[in-house]
Amino acid sequence: MRTGEEYIKTLNDGRTVLIDGEAVENVAEHPAFRNVIRTIAELFDIAAYPANGMQYHSEEIDGTANRVFSIPRTAEELKLRRQAVERWAKHTHGWVGRSPDHVGTFFAAFGAHPEVFENSERDFAGNIRRYYERILREDLYVSYAIIPPQVSRATTASGWEGDFLQVGVVRETEEGLIVRGSQMLATGGAIADEVFVTCIKPLGPDDVDFAISFALPTATEGLKFLCRRPFSPAATSEFDYPLTSHYDEPDALVIFEDVLVPWDRVFIDRSVETLRRQFFETGAHALGNWQAQTRFTTKLQFIAAVARKVTQVNGTDKIPGVQEKLGELAALVSSVESALIAAEYTAQADSSGMLVPGKRALYGVMGLQSETYPRVIAILRDLVGGGVLQLPSSVVDMKSPVTAPDVERYIASPGVSSEERIKLFRLAWDIIGSEFAGRHQQYELFYAGAPFVVKGVYTYRNYGYEAQVAELDEFLASYGVDGRKEEN
Ligand SMILES: Cc1cc2nc3c(=O)[nH]c(=O)nc-3n(C[C@H](O)[C@H](O)[C@H](O)COP(=O)(O)OP(=O)(O)OC[C@H]3O[C@@H](n4cnc5c(N)ncnc54)[C@H](O)[C@@H]3O)c2cc1C
Repeated sequence: MRTGEEYIKTLNDGRTVLIDGEAVENVAEHPAFRNVIRTIAELFDIAAYPANGMQYHSEEIDGTANRVFSIPRTAEELKLRRQAVERWAKHTHGWVGRSPDHVGTFFAAFGAHPEVFENSERDFAGNIRRYYERILREDLYVSYAIIPPQVSRATTASGWEGDFLQVGVVRETEEGLIVRGSQMLATGGAIADEVFVTCIKPLGPDDVDFAISFALPTATEGLKFLCRRPFSPAATSEFDYPLTSHYDEPDALVIFEDVLVPWDRVFIDRSVETLRRQFFETGAHALGNWQAQTRFTTKLQFIAAVARKVTQVNGTDKIPGVQEKLGELAALVSSVESALIAAEYTAQADSSGMLVPGKRALYGVMGLQSETYPRVIAILRDLVGGGVLQLPSSVVDMKSPVTAPDVERYIASPGVSSEERIKLFRLAWDIIGSEFAGRHQQYELFYAGAPFVVKGVYTYRNYGYEAQVAELDEFLASYGVDGRKEEN
């Protein structure tokens, strides 16, 4: 299986990654990317080491592959898959949202359902199957950009002024489709092997040119990644910014300057109907978001541990009011943990035999994520008080003879050295207050779609209100103005 070093070596491939007004020469050496690249490399190394239990025999390629890319067909396989995802998530403590298992999980479900991509003229079903097999064989790290750029949400792209702001088909040739425009927001795009491009937002008949689905190597002519401001170069040290310095995944608007998408890389060609079916009739949306919830659970557990330790260090943990806050935090985290397991327990096999995590539990907990995460952050914010700012300006203050004596004397707690205290509170700041922390608050609110979509579409539609209302109707029908009706 692929090692971290092999991954890093492939990155100097001429990809167009734009930052601060210029193209990056080699992302693996650039301060904006090199640290998170190292983290991704560590993930590959973990998977490549057999004792870590992440490998399995894949029927699809008749060979060894990473279990995070597997199609689960039994309850045991689903559990082992979750454990493999957890193994990676624990390495980053849940702070890397789009590690290779995220988009790879969507492709596992696509690979189980090539029929959804069937097309009378071209072998798109074969394309998706072969692409999934490549992910298994090559341990591909795929990012995705599946949301139209935020130009105007008043209409879809066909209603916007200006042609091809959203990526769409300009023309077709014998070799493939020529696409132009942009799509948001490829987290990890600048450092991944490939990018998967499609549109998850519903499109209308006038948007047919935008109803496409394909994958391309990151280093493709005409393909550009316009990155947001990176945070890790501003991280003064690992000690000062323990999360920013390792886990700052780049987000990028992906731009297509008349890019050729060869036919064997096209999965959907101008079909609004297939586009709609792609995520929901393959089970990809549920399986992919279950991967995301596994990662999210790990992150919440990590944050809860930081909160608990902060109260210990500050000597507040015996106060009943503080214990109540820790209790609320525990309740929030355990409800997410429980939903993850409930989704696994209620998983059902679909027409292909793939186990799809139970949607009621999965989308139920996702519906609350836009409240759960801000609340978890608010509790930690409350518990740390001003301690996250009663800190030296950087690790240098802890070493300099000018500042070190004061730092050691005044920034410490009973039984807790100055270094230990500062370390913990710097970590807390990287969770609640740094730019990295702010980006994560936005990420957890939006990565699965805006809250109005998650709650109003996914949670609402998958709860199963029909059965609940039928029971209610039975109860309402059981009595009337004359009291309880006789049962026959
Ligand atoms: C940090 C981060 C990383 C991301 N990574 C990825 C990635 O890797 N790949 C990817 O494809 N996408 C990614 N996304 C994009 C993400 O999928 C989108 O942010 C999400 O789908 C919401 O779309 P939007 O941001 O355009 O919000 P919008 O849809 O524009 O919504 C913004 C707000 O406008 C209001 N609103 C808009 N329309 C309506 C409506 N019809 N009804 C009610 N209210 C409305 C709501 O208040 C809503 O919350 C990422 C986003 C973030 C923040």
